[in-house]
Amino acid sequence: MVRVYIGLGSNLANPQKQLRSAIEALALLPDTQVAGVSSFYASDSLSPGQPRYTNAVAALDTTLEPIALLDALQAIEADQGRERKERWGPRTLDLDILLYADRVIDEPRLKVPHYHMHARPFVLYPLAELVPEGFRLADQRPLSQLLADCPFVGLERL
Ligand code: ATP
Ligand code: MG
Ligand code: MG
Repeated sequence: MVRVYIGLGSNLANPQKQLRSAIEALALLPDTQVAGVSSFYASDSLSPGQPRYTNAVAALDTTLEPIALLDALQAIEADQGRERKERWGPRTLDLDILLYADRVIDEPRLKVPHYHMHARPFVLYPLAELVPEGFRLADQRPLSQLLADCPFVGLERL
């Protein structure tokens, strides 16, 4: 089993309900247990004119390999009506692999740690609820330092 952190996001069709459904679907994945779920957080979209987002992070313990996990996450997104029209368009559900144990993955379909997590308060603050004290990323940066560099601005804890 390895510990994996998944970022969840939604800004369409009742975002909190989308996140709750996604967590139920994660719990049904083969060889996978949901070890924890953060609070939900609301924030304005980074893209102008889109509805507000709801985000959370889930901790999974799984034996699924990274690409198999990505396939499973994309199937859950599709089940919940995710349509890919424009990049960063509004979505019913986004499931991103933030961290996969302490692995660094650089494949065409999968970059881990998730390339932009360091700059996203709606990822870092929920993640911080789930990790052990003194947690460091694969590059040895402590999460506490990333948090200090990424103020809790524009986030609303639900
Ligand atoms: P962002 O990546 O900025 O959060 P997004 O989540 O909206 O944007 P998507 O449309 O969900 O982007 O995904 C685009 C592609 O990103 C996917 O097809 C997937 O192959 C790739 N990808 C690369 N790394 C990851 C990762 N760590 N988790 C999920 N998808 C990833
Ligand atoms: Mg995303
Ligand atoms: Mg995504």
